[in-house]
Amino acid sequence: MQFLSKYSLKKYHTFGTDVYTKYFTEINSVAQFKNLLQEDIYKNNSLLILGGGSNLLFTKNYDGLVIKNNLHGVDVVKQDENHVWVKAAAGENWHQFVLWCVNHNYGGIENLSLIPGCVGASPMQNIGAYGVEIKDVCDTVNAIDVQTGEEITFTNANCKFGYRESIFKHIYKNKYLITSVVFKLNKKPVFNTSYGAIEQELKTMGVTQPSVKAISDAVINIRSSKLPDPAKIGNAGSFFKNPEVSKQKHDELKQQHPNLVAYALDNGNYKLAAGWLIEQCGFKGKRFGDAGVHVNQALVLVNYGTANGSEIYNLSQQILDAVNNAYGVTLEREVNIY
Ligand code: FAD
Ligand code: NAP
Repeated sequence: MQFLSKYSLKKYHTFGTDVYTKYFTEINSVAQFKNLLQEDIYKNNSLLILGGGSNLLFTKNYDGLVIKNNLHGVDVVKQDENHVWVKAAAGENWHQFVLWCVNHNYGGIENLSLIPGCVGASPMQNIGAYGVEIKDVCDTVNAIDVQTGEEITFTNANCKFGYRESIFKHIYKNKYLITSVVFKLNKKPVFNTSYGAIEQELKTMGVTQPSVKAISDAVINIRSSKLPDPAKIGNAGSFFKNPEVSKQKHDELKQQHPNLVAYALDNGNYKLAAGWLIEQCGFKGKRFGDAGVHVNQALVLVNYGTANGSEIYNLSQQILDAVNNAYGVTLEREVNIY
């Protein structure tokens, strides 16, 4: 097994900050990962499993072993008249996997087009966009216990999915290597076009009959026009989650701020648009050295070039404090901090 020492992670994460890891290795098969368990460097260091690095921020050099997951393969494992079960290995690029499903006209994840990262991280925070989440299509998650090497399969219910949440982001963080995910997709797709700007974009595209491909294209168009491309400007997507507040808190805020952007949830609470709160606090488009808040989307913190992780983290703290002071709402970071 080859371990690289004091290895730069700059090209392995989308914030693009210049950080080093004490040790770095890559795995190309489950067998290779199991062999790794016997190595002293593995046993004596903290572990970080890396996919596309698009949902993390390093505030300092990583004092442990980073394992880049390169497990590949996409297979249909089962099908019936209405559904198809597709197993995708954890190291597959998420968007390429979505396009594979779109090209086969398998419905269910077209609204999740153009999300960066790998399949293996998709259950971690139950990735979501435009009204669809992984929990809607995830059948099972296959994983390996990083201590014992034991293989385990999590059902959808075992994953304890929530809003940008799962069991893997909390009590099982760094305890399991996710090796593959099985998705249950529709051969007779039901379309979800009511969210955000999808319907408008379909109209602009001249689409009268939605299809898996048309929705994917619409989402790609919207996202490309709004969100910063990490290849051009460092970022990890939304830095904060949209906070959930009680109806009482929502009503108080709405009275004081009639323009408040909020969505009623099934449980009676309200989801507030964190981007709106941050914008109202004057942060949208603001730049502090090379750390900043994106001009089009206040939820996205960016690295204009040479910002380091602690500068970005400190900016996130300033935003948290400002929103708390102005609205009495505590934002929670969505990005994994290391
Ligand atoms: P990484 O950043 O590599 O890892 C994230 C976490 O998962 C880390 O803690 C890591 O240790 C762990 N992990 C990764 N792989 C494994 C594995 N195989 N086993 C166990 N643990 C693992 N997210 C959304 O939900 N919706 C969006 O619409 C969205 N849009 C985005 C847009 C942009 C421009 C960017 C930059 C990010 C966006 N994100 C979005 C966030 C991010 O792309 C997703 O969370 C994505 O799933 C992260 O995948 P990754 O492979 O890059 O994970
Ligand atoms: P948007 O469409 O401008 O919407 C702004 C916010 O309002 C979003 O956060 C969204 O919540 C919420 N929203 C919009 N329509 C809604 C509806 N009909 N019902 C309930 N909530 C609604 O957002 P955007 O920035 O362009 O992003 C579009 C989608 O991509 C969103 O779903 C967003 O979550 C996702 N995205 C996620 C990331 C990330 O890193 N996590 C980054 C970029 C985009 P939700 O966020 O809960 O959907």
